[in-house]
This record gives sequence, C-alpha cells and structure tokens, in this order.
Amino acid sequence: MKFPYKPRPRQLEVAREVSAALKSTNVVLEAPTGFGKTPVVLSAILPFIEKGRRIVWAVRTGSETDRPVEELAVFRRELGLKLVGLSFRGKRDMCLLARRFGSDLDYSEVSYICSRERSRCRYYRELEEGVELAPLLSRGALTYSEVYKWASEAGVCPYFLQRRLLAYADVVALSYNYVVDEGLSWSVKSAVPFRESILVVDEAHNLQGLNLGGDTVTEGTLARALEEAREVGSAGAEELVRHAIELVSDRFAGLREEESEVFDPLDLIPDGREELVEEAERAGEMVREMRYKQGRRPRSSLYHFASFLEAAVGLRGERGVAFVAERLDNRVNLSIWDMRSAELLGAVWRKFWRVVLMSGTLSPIEAFAETVGLERYHAVSAPSPYDESNASVYLVKDLTTRGEELSGEMAGRYVEGIAKLLSRVRRNTAVFTASYRVLEGLASAGLLERAEELGYVPFVERRSMSGLEAAEALKGFKSMAKEGRGLLLAPMGGRFAEGADYPGEELMCVFLAGVPFEKPTTKTKLYIGYYQELYGEERGRLYAYVYPAIRRAAQALGRALRSPRDQAVLVLGDFRYRNYLNLMPDYVRELAVEVGHDKLDSVRLPWQEVKFG
Ligand code: SF4
Repeated sequence: MKFPYKPRPRQLEVAREVSAALKSTNVVLEAPTGFGKTPVVLSAILPFIEKGRRIVWAVRTGSETDRPVEELAVFRRELGLKLVGLSFRGKRDMCLLARRFGSDLDYSEVSYICSRERSRCRYYRELEEGVELAPLLSRGALTYSEVYKWASEAGVCPYFLQRRLLAYADVVALSYNYVVDEGLSWSVKSAVPFRESILVVDEAHNLQGLNLGGDTVTEGTLARALEEAREVGSAGAEELVRHAIELVSDRFAGLREEESEVFDPLDLIPDGREELVEEAERAGEMVREMRYKQGRRPRSSLYHFASFLEAAVGLRGERGVAFVAERLDNRVNLSIWDMRSAELLGAVWRKFWRVVLMSGTLSPIEAFAETVGLERYHAVSAPSPYDESNASVYLVKDLTTRGEELSGEMAGRYVEGIAKLLSRVRRNTAVFTASYRVLEGLASAGLLERAEELGYVPFVERRSMSGLEAAEALKGFKSMAKEGRGLLLAPMGGRFAEGADYPGEELMCVFLAGVPFEKPTTKTKLYIGYYQELYGEERGRLYAYVYPAIRRAAQALGRALRSPRDQAVLVLGDFRYRNYLNLMPDYVRELAVEVGHDKLDSVRLPWQEVKFG
C-alpha cells in the first residue's frame, strides 16, 4: 500500500482489507477518531484512482470539504503522485455577486440571484471568454478558498470555475447534499459520472437522521407570510395563511415545550382549495422579485410556506413520512418529517460503482447498514489506538436521568459528583447532558455556581443560540485550555457534542449526564412505530431508539480523544450505560471501572502518569 506516513499499528492492514473488498463490493468501515481514517481510506482507493475511477468524498457540511483534499496534498507531496483533488462548495460560498444583497444568504436565495444575474454577470462572462486552467490544476489539491481567491483575483466566477475543474478532479470533496439531493447532484454528476465513481461518506452515523425530504415552517414564517400576502395584495394567499395561523392557534396552543402532535397537511388548506396554494406561491414569487429589485435578499416566507404545503400534500399517504406540529423555543413548528432513510439512501448508493461508509460510531454495523439501505457490503472494524495511557474511564453506579423528570435529589447528586470531578481534574471539562431538560435541571441545582467556586468559567449551550454566539462560546471555552478552567455544559447530539473538535488540552475530561434517549413524545413514538413496521418489534425499537442514543453518547465521549497523544478522564454518568457498554468504543468497554458519585474526586489522571514528549 502507498502510505505517506510512518504507519501506526493496523493502518496498513485495514487499508489492504478495504482495498481488497472494494474489488467486489461496498465497505462499511468503523474506525475511532485518532485511527487515521482519511489517509487509510485514501491509501485503499489509490489503486482504483490509478485505474481511472473517480472519488466522490461526501462530508456532513461544506465546512469539512477541505479536510480530504488537504490529506490528498500530503499524498501528492510525499509519494510524488499527480492526482487532482477539489473541495467543492455551493454558490452560497462561491458567488462573488450575491454578497451585495447582504451577508448570510441561504442556498435558495443565492441560486435565485444567480438565475437572474448570470446572463449579465461580468464574472461569468469573463469565465466564458476563456480561462487557462493549467496553473490551477498544477497545484493538484485545491481547497475551496484557494479556488475562490484565485477566481476573485482573476475576476471570474468561482462557482462555475469549480464546475469546470470538476472534469479534471480525481477526488471531489463535497457536502452530503450534492449526493443525496437530486436537484443538486446533477451539477456534479455531469462532470463526475456517479456510475463509474467510488462514493466515500464520512461521519456516516449521521445518515439515518438525514430527513431527506423534510422541511419546517414556524409560527414566525406564518406571521411574515401574512404580512407579505397583504403587501402584494393577494386575497387568496392571505386567506390561506390566515387559515393556517388560526388552525395552529386552535389545535396546537396547548402543546408544551418539546411536545408534538401529528396533523394532516390538507387541514392547513381551507375547504381543500388547493388553488390557493398556487396563488400563494405566485404571490411569494412576486415578493422575491420585489425584494430582489430593491437590492435586498430575495427571501419570501410566503413562498416558503406555499412550497412547504405543496411538498406536504404531495407526500401525503407516503409510508415513512409524517407531518408533525412541535413546540420548540416556545413556538410551534410545522414539519414534514421524512423517516425513510433506508429507502431513499438505498437508491442513492445504487447510483455509484462502489460505496464506502465510515465513522467512529456505527456499532452494531449490520443494524447501521440496514437503516441506511446498504445491501451488499464488507464490514471492517479498526481497533482504537487508545489504552490506559490515554484514558481512564468510569461508570457511575448511583446516578441516572431515567424517568420523566430529573428529581431534585438526583440533580443534587449529579452536581455533587461533577463538582468532585472538577476539583480533581483541573482541566477543561465538558458535561454533555442527555437533553436540554437535564442541562436545565443541573443548572437549576447549582452546577454553574459550584463550578465557579472551584475556579472554573462555565460556557453553556442554549437552545436558540445563533451560529455566531455558539462560535464565541466555543472560542471562550477553548481559550481556557492552558489554565484548565473551562467548563462546557451542552446537550449530547448538539453542535458542541458532535462535529466540534477539541485537540490536545482543549478538552481533557468528559462527563455524560444521562443516556441521550429521545423523550417519549408523539414524534418519538411515530419513529419507533415506523421502524417496528419495517424491522419487527424488538429490532425496530433498537434501531430507532437505542442505537441512535448510544451513538450520540459515543460521539460526545470521543470529543476528548482525537489523536493517540490525547489524554482524558471519561465518565459515564448513568448506571444504565452498563447495559450498553458492548455498543461503546472498545477502549470504553475495556477501561470502564464502576464508582460511586462521591468517589469522583479520586479518579486516575492519565496525564500524571504518562506524558507524551
Ligand atoms: S455567475 Fe457566478 S458570480 Fe455570477 S451570479 Fe452566478 S454564481 Fe454569482
């Protein structure tokens, strides 16, 4: 195998196994963070690239597309390969013109602007007049910012420049959307034929919950849609929106926070008059047009609501699609909820020559593959590189968040246990909770005050935090790493417990407060019911309810161990984890020791025993 680093144990064996399997079938690879999945898989697929296969490397969000391309750059440099890699981003990140309509535009707004402007866009014209691609292609591995900068300096459109570069790319890294969404994938497919390509999906544990055909409108959307209907003088649109607002306030006013209820989308349309939806859509188009002509972002809530209704009515009666009203952040959201991950994703995988799905948390692999519709595959499980020199792991035998409410007594016990832990570790610590409800319970029981008394500075994730506020909180927490005084309090499954990276000293202790099972709302029951219909009573419950929760917990726990040089204290703060240790990463299973919450001030600190030079 060609590999640009000194291989660590098992890396080459896993690369060989993946490579051999790909000759005849798909691969599901479970490898913990720190194993080096990206270079191992690149090494495994190199022989296929050399024979002319193209690689589509799908990541969860656009912000992660540079990573595989940067790794490819190392392969090029160290192994003298002549491969071309491209980190592909959407118009939202690549349009030079859209920014004059404001910042933070969404995909559909930028698309709208481009569809109106392209014929006279000077950046597009410059590109059409001819651009020499060779200087760019000679760099080999192109991150999106390099393409963007080069295009901006040359005065050509970065988005359509990327589209041209696609034809030369051996490896294209892009977000899931460009693979699973028909409306987006054509732009890539025309240059990179899926049928002849290998698809690699990173962080594949997210696939089950993708909600592919889903959409949501809020009470805020409806209120804005009503104003817009009046603004353009559309009586039909006004009648439709007013009817929906009345229905929401009559039927769903009694929903409590996080409670949900199903609805029939036809109830949102007065007397089944579907022509009102078309009228609202036309009126929404007018609003977008008006805003655009005023130089404002071409956004219309009316248009969104009409498209939502049209999609919902079209999906009515589809098995695996539910329409759910749910109260979140004290307002009612109406959602199309598409649970059909196996059915829809199965069709996506079949478009490719081969598929590699990988993540650190896929156990049990058969269940994962079934829930994402992958039928033929070879499973590869890589061992984690962690042992007692990296981690000490505890399972607290007298704590649990089981039950509807977290009792005052149990919350107090959690606070006492966590305070003892904090007094011992004196390093940046994250308390990841089973839910916001548990987070609020711990905060009310005085966790933040106790942490402050111990010299820690708390950073708390809130439900309605904007992206900017979250980034600020994360930065603040990480800035405490040297002194080891940061305390992060956030729910599992949220943005701080998944996706965020905390290398080295940024996070050295993780406490899981509870097991992150979904609350037994109508929505949860629907989900379990659908899975039970597909897979039978017991398996359905495991697939829909138990495994996703344990994957969320394993993800949160894994935040502290990102490389073989990381060290951490990990605490499973709920005795129910005993039943699920077999689903946890191998190092958790092997190192877990049971303790009482009152003994958390004497946990073993790996960094006091082994220091990596
Ligand atoms: S052609 Fe390019 S720069 Fe011009 S509007 Fe479209 S995406 Fe933007």
